[in-house]
Amino acid sequence: MKKLIVASLFLASLNIYGLNPAAAASQDTLRQKDTLVQVATIDALLGGLYDGVATIDSLKAHGDTGIGTFDQLDGEMVVLDGKVYKVGIDGHVEIVPDKETTPFAAVTFFDSDQELAVSTGLNLDSFTAMVDSSIPSTNLFYAFRMEGQFKSVRTRSVPEQQKPYRPLAEVVKDQAFFNFQDVQGVMVGFYCPAFVKGINVPGYHLHFLTADRKAGGHVLGFTVDQATLKIDTLNNFLLLLPETEAFAGVDLQRDRKHELERVEK
Ligand SMILES: [Zn+2]
Repeated sequence: MKKLIVASLFLASLNIYGLNPAAAASQDTLRQKDTLVQVATIDALLGGLYDGVATIDSLKAHGDTGIGTFDQLDGEMVVLDGKVYKVGIDGHVEIVPDKETTPFAAVTFFDSDQELAVSTGLNLDSFTAMVDSSIPSTNLFYAFRMEGQFKSVRTRSVPEQQKPYRPLAEVVKDQAFFNFQDVQGVMVGFYCPAFVKGINVPGYHLHFLTADRKAGGHVLGFTVDQATLKIDTLNNFLLLLPETEAFAGVDLQRDRKHELERVEK
């Protein structure tokens, strides 16, 4: 296992940490409280860094809810209730063993700060508009858990890659799409502020699992029938950077905004 170096970006606000912001720097505080913990960066993934750099075991130590992918880009990750699920390119879902690894993931210990009833007919666009108007600031991070009945959900997964790795914008040409009608399930994911561009995905990023945990994927669209949305406000960001040759060598200078758009939509 390659070593991870830890770069911490503290976004602690004084009203929470009072007159002792140093308290926010303790590892205990970071693990327990409102922290988005992330392995590697989205631009490294866009650049084709698909080798796992952190074990599933170590990821679970940082959160019970989240999203990501796996070593060799082998499927979509959904972390839910402390379990790490893989939605494979064939649509099959499995619980991933602790010894497997991830090249990119984000997790948190989910602790709901607000709960909203989501009305019938809400889709991805109206969801983002509703959440934008419900959150205290678009300059913080948020974790979501939306559970209930969906009229439709459209997802995708990505195929396992072999070296030499192609950039993600090329690989997504081979993605598989899954369409669900009248399905019960849960979406988890994050809102990241615009200033994380290059590090994570600015805006909303959700993954889906059906209630029976047998299908899911990276969310491309949905229409809600009836659901409850829980929102966890996160004001700490812990970035775990791989100390690998591949990460040292990847070009993280250039703007990959257009590649990201091709990959996410
Ligand atoms: Zn995704």
